[in-house]
Amino acid sequence: MEEKKGQIGVTTDNIFPIIKKFLYSDHEIFLRELVSNAVDATQKLKTFSSLGEFKGELGDLTIHISVDKDKNTLTISDKGIGMTAEEVDKYLNQIALSSANEFLDKYKDDANSIIGHFGLGFYSSFMVAKQVEVITKSYKDEPAVKWTCDGSPEFTISAADKAERGTDIILHIDDENKNFLEKAEIERLLKKYCRFLPIPIAFGKKTE
Ligand code: ADP
Ligand code: MG
Repeated sequence: MEEKKGQIGVTTDNIFPIIKKFLYSDHEIFLRELVSNAVDATQKLKTFSSLGEFKGELGDLTIHISVDKDKNTLTISDKGIGMTAEEVDKYLNQIALSSANEFLDKYKDDANSIIGHFGLGFYSSFMVAKQVEVITKSYKDEPAVKWTCDGSPEFTISAADKAERGTDIILHIDDENKNFLEKAEIERLLKKYCRFLPIPIAFGKKTE
């Protein structure tokens, strides 16, 4: 696959500083949003499996969260349905971004309800990250893709080297949000937002 560059259809030059500013006190909800996406993707795979639409092995479906303090990254990995290149373009560039656009119009309202309403979900990553990488391989037999975005409306999609089905969301945590690289902080958030989920969540550091 050839590398492809594009511009997301946002009217403002850079919407992310605005998102950051208005949701300042709610930065921590990014983890809830990303884990809930991982759970959704995994539940969908289980449904496709029970319908006979997915015939492969489900295997261990645990969602893994890990921190690399040397690289300043926080990674959320699932073994759910993944996304094809076309789906990345549709779901991350077009839909999630247009939701962020809608958010811009309404930002004066209560931030939390807006996030719930417009599914700012995935884009809440940019409240804590200066760069986000999505490496994903669909349960359909299609090549893996990597999407990266640095918080400007420009993104890159290219071929990726991922053999297993599922999605890795790699957040390059910015300087103001380094607290989210701390074990105790992640454990606190998992307790607060990620209890009683239908898929097991495991948290462990990649490098000690
Ligand atoms: P919502 O979850 O409300 O649909 P999000 O902004 O959180 O909105 O996510 C946008 C879309 O991106 C999802 O609907 C889904 O199609 C896709 N997506 C996000 N995270 C994942 C993931 N971990 N695995 C597969 N697809 C995902
Ligand atoms: Mg979501």
